[in-house]
Order: sequence, then structure tokens, then C-alpha cells
Amino acid sequence: MSHTPTRSDFDQYMTPNYSPQQVIPVRGEGSRLWDQEGREYIDFAGGIAVNSLGHCHPVLVNALKAQADKLWHLSNVYTNEPALKLARALVERTFADKVFMCSSGGEANEAALKLARRWAVEHHGEHKDKIISFSQSFHGRTFFTVSVGGQPKYSQGFGPVPGGILHATYNDLDSVRALVGDDTCAIMVEPMQGEGGIVPATPEFLQGLRDLCDAHDALLVFDEVQTGVGRSGELYAYKNYGVVPDILTSAKSLGGGFPVGAMLTTDAIATSLAIGTHGSTYGGNALASAVALAAIEHIDTPEVLAGVKKRHELFREHLETINRKHGVFQEIRGMGLLIGAQMAPEYEGQAKDILPLAIDEGLMALIAGPNVLRMAPSLVIPEADIEEGMARLERAIAKLVAKA
Ligand SMILES: *Cc1c(COP(=O)(O)O)cnc(C)c1O
Repeated sequence: MSHTPTRSDFDQYMTPNYSPQQVIPVRGEGSRLWDQEGREYIDFAGGIAVNSLGHCHPVLVNALKAQADKLWHLSNVYTNEPALKLARALVERTFADKVFMCSSGGEANEAALKLARRWAVEHHGEHKDKIISFSQSFHGRTFFTVSVGGQPKYSQGFGPVPGGILHATYNDLDSVRALVGDDTCAIMVEPMQGEGGIVPATPEFLQGLRDLCDAHDALLVFDEVQTGVGRSGELYAYKNYGVVPDILTSAKSLGGGFPVGAMLTTDAIATSLAIGTHGSTYGGNALASAVALAAIEHIDTPEVLAGVKKRHELFREHLETINRKHGVFQEIRGMGLLIGAQMAPEYEGQAKDILPLAIDEGLMALIAGPNVLRMAPSLVIPEADIEEGMARLERAIAKLVAKA
């Protein structure tokens, strides 16, 4: 007899670095999920800004199934058609000339950081090694990316951290001016901080970083792992700002639920990734590339992108209505379908308490730090699901208020 897995199997068999909710979803369709008991949920979490077209979207399912019958994997000893098509699609739709493929956001950022360092050594010398990033930023969980990330809790306790990394204050150009110099190799920044609490950059800030990089011959790296692939209402968030980076990283929504990542850059910089300097066994995997290509082609259309902006307004209106009744939020912010609601001072640190209450009402949501309720739903979530999800959220918040 086969054993039906339970939540207690998690504690028994899996390393304890996560603490998942008690329910185990087994099936998804669009923006709805069903658990082992057949209970239905509306999905405002979107696999943490990953399921860009919801669950089991036919465009992605068809791309995956068609490729599954042809070819899965070759390694980078050979190239393959889906990877070449995906690279071309990314180049044609962005500032970039060249693409490095991998399987996750952390891996894309690791490639970006290594490329920036290598470019600086080749063009300027060993002394130009300083990487500037920002407090509260998040760039992945490899040792280099947690060190560049601005949340020390993720990098402390693992022994000596990589050096040459400086942290400035987000949206504060003076704090960058105090650190930047001719030894600056790169500035890495999220156009909107995701894990750090859904904090959009100001246009002056991103333009100022561009100017500082130009003045000091440093590379500007945009981490668009969370903001990319339609999430902001443009294919990439940099297009909202009109500030062009030298390197851009993408993952999460890129695969719509299939693990894939990419690092984009220009011809001039890409030459520093000469043969043998970097690699990834799964990078450019045919299945992953076929799914990502289908996702990009479906999302980068005027209808889907305009739909993201329209849904942003709907989310905002609903959250404001809830807040007028219950007064739990201090600020509602974000771009496109990456939305954060910061808790009011009376509810400081209680964003996480909403999640199990929401599950009880049949809604999945996220937090971004202890103080921000985060939503990152499918870019094509139906209006009816937004309405119903918000009704459930309001009931969850009424329970939070009743407990206070
Ligand atoms: C999620 C995230 C990452 C890490 O991506 P993984 O796929 O988990 O490695 C990096 N940067 C940002 C901005 C992210 O949101």
C-alpha cells in the first residue's frame, strides 16, 4: 500500500530550514489550489512571484509536454533549439546582447557578481573589487549572494564571508556617494526591494546609481529576479524607470513554476565570460528553456502587461477598502502584481499572524519581513478570484483585529 504523505513527514524527513503551513496542496488550476482534503484556496502567493501564469496554464503545460517528447537535456557540451530561442527572445526584448542561463535566481546573481569582478580585473586591475549593495536587499542564498545581500542573519554563522562588499542605504544616494570610488566594481540593486519589504526605488535613486556607475567606471547590476517578466507591468521593471543596467538577472516568473534563471548583459561585458570561466550543468536545459520561452512570449504582450497594471489598481482599491474598515495597514505600496501592505504601528510585527488566519479562510498570501503582508499572484488572475480572495482576506483580518 502506498503511504499518503502528511505534514509530519516534513519534520521527519526534511532538513528543518523551513516551516511550511500545515495544509498540503495537491492540485492547482489558474489561481485556485486544492489540498489533500479537497479544500479550495485562492492563491495570492503565486509560489513567491513564480507562478506568473497561475497553476497549470495551458500555454506552459503544452510547451512542457511538447518538449518532453522531444529532448530534455544535453549539457553545455552541445547547444539546443529551445535555449537558443529563449536567448534570442530575451535579447530582442531587452537592452541585452548576451544571455547566460542557469536554474535559479541565486545562481543568476552569482554569475553576475563573478562576471562583474572578472570584468573589473581584466579592464582595470585587481584593486577594483568593491561591490556596493543595500541594507535589507536580498540576492539569493549562495555564500556570495547572502554576503552581498543586506540581511546579516542570512550570512552570519557560516564562517568567514567573502570580502570587498559594502552596504549602503536603499533610496539614499548620499549613502552610496560615501562608499563609491574608483575601486568600485559594481553596484547591485533591486529596482524594488522584494524580501526587504516591497520598497520601490525612486526614479532619482536609480538614475543616480546609473550616473555614479558611469562616473566611476563601475557596472550597474539590476536584480530583477522578483520584479522581472511582467511582474511590474513591464517585461522588466527597468523599463518603468528608463534606467538601463549593464547586467540584469531574472528567474522566478521566468519559468512560471519551472526552475530557470538567466543573466543578461552587453557584448562588451560578456567577453569577460570567456570559455571555461563559468558554467552550470542544467543551464540552458531544453525543458526549462521551452517553458520559459512560452512564458515570455505569452507575458510580453500589450494585453497581459496592461492587465497587470489594471489588476494592481484592483488590489490597491480592495486593500484600501479593507483598511478603511479595520485600520491594520500603515501603507499600501508596490508595482504591478507585487504588492505590500505595511502593518500599522498597533500591529507591528503581526503580518505573519495573518497567514494562518487566511489559510483558515481559504486564501494563500505571503509576508515580506515581519511587518509587511505581501501579494504576488498570477499575472492573469481572474477578477472574480481577486474579489473572492479579498473577501477571504477581510475575514482573516477581522479575526486578527478581534484577537488584538
Ligand atoms: C528570490 C530572489 C532571489 C533568489 O532566487 P532563488 O531562485 O531562490 O535562488 C534573488 N534575488 C531576488 C530579488 C529574489 O527575490
